[in-house]
Amino acid sequence: MSSNTGSPALIMKKKHLVLIGGGHAHMMLLANLAEFVAKGIAVTVIQPSEYHYYSGMGAGMLGGTYTADEIRFQTKTMVEKQGGGFILDRAVEIDPANREVVLEQAGQRVAYDVLSCNAGSQVPDRGLSLPESGDIFPVKPIEGLARARARIIARGKSRSLHVTIVGGGPSAMEIAGNVHQLACRENLLPPTITIVAGHAVLPHAPERVRRLTERSLERREISILTHTRVRQVEPGSLLLDSGESLAADITFLAVGVRPSPIFARSGLPVGPDGGLRVNRYLQSVTEPNIFGGGDCIYFEPCPLDKVGVYAVRQNPVLVHNVMAAFAGTPLQEFHPGGKYLLIYNLGDGYGVFNKWSLAFGGRPAFSIKDYIDRRFMHTFQTDEH
Ligand SMILES: Cc1cc2nc3c(=O)[nH]c(=O)nc-3n(C[C@H](O)[C@H](O)[C@H](O)COP(=O)(O)OP(=O)(O)OC[C@H]3O[C@@H](n4cnc5c(N)ncnc54)[C@H](O)[C@@H]3O)c2cc1C
Repeated sequence: MSSNTGSPALIMKKKHLVLIGGGHAHMMLLANLAEFVAKGIAVTVIQPSEYHYYSGMGAGMLGGTYTADEIRFQTKTMVEKQGGGFILDRAVEIDPANREVVLEQAGQRVAYDVLSCNAGSQVPDRGLSLPESGDIFPVKPIEGLARARARIIARGKSRSLHVTIVGGGPSAMEIAGNVHQLACRENLLPPTITIVAGHAVLPHAPERVRRLTERSLERREISILTHTRVRQVEPGSLLLDSGESLAADITFLAVGVRPSPIFARSGLPVGPDGGLRVNRYLQSVTEPNIFGGGDCIYFEPCPLDKVGVYAVRQNPVLVHNVMAAFAGTPLQEFHPGGKYLLIYNLGDGYGVFNKWSLAFGGRPAFSIKDYIDRRFMHTFQTDEH
């Protein structure tokens, strides 16, 4: 700001809000960036993609129910439209002493006054010593499922593929069912689809949910191997712990997720899973100007499942607390809330619904999920998608 009174120019340095990742917990912050900008706060969002993909619809994109455009948020556009800055890069470290984020490319640094982290989670390799080549697709990042879809279509027209899914959780079930849908819709030669589920299918789900899921997949001749683990993933096959080998032209890794490694690397306090350790205000337990939400945090008051539901519930608290950190006003507590609704999209229009003791399968379950997911997308998507 310069003065026209002849007094020396007074330079006011703008305060800077930096967001790492534009994931599910940052949706409301991203939608309200203009408010920060209007208050004279500079805003920068760092993300390795211009888009953020909604995981709840990822399997549906693989199966062809949704296009990539329908399941992604235009993060860059959303930020720039409101006067914020967007950096297409990956944060690799946080330097809390100097209040800087270190970027992957050329080790550039971005200074912050307040930092909010929503860097999500990754699929760990769980010692499977993955080969450099081959059609192997971790279920995250979700955009990888679009590449998997293209590979299955390209290879599955001329021969019947062996598609394997390593893992026994909900995402493994969703992927298997949607590979079946993809093959049917694209008139591919019928693939052999096998889930290597480890100890059991859906080990944390109620018995009825497990039964409904297994029945739906087995009706479509999807094989589920339980009490079987994969020892090694090789190009074109899986080595099982029994010593047997399983043909695998395309392999999906759905072996759970682990929070982004940047916090442990930065020497910040983390939970046992490596997630940023936060208090009931979603605030780092040692750095009052660092906040976080979604899969990348370890919520110290009560560790949370890695589901998007919690990330979504954290949105209003993050907006309030990030604003309060600039204003010096009181922070709000995050209360995780009660039991959440889960609906699996098992492909071919079939879903499994579960909340409290209510569980049912079929088309209505899928339709409810489809309605909820589309409405969520509609709330936060920009017009240009
Ligand atoms: C196939 C599948 C289906 C699922 N279905 C459901 C469901 O139906 N319901 C449900 O509740 N949960 C579901 N989940 C779980 C859900 O995906 C996660 O809990 C949810 O994605 C967490 O949201 P997030 O924003 O924390 O992380 P993410 O969705 O992983 O988003 C993180 C964001 O941060 C960015 N990012 C990553 N690293 C960096 C970095 N170093 N620097 C800057 N930016 C970075 C990424 O590009 C991404 O945009 C599913 C998971 C999978 C794999």
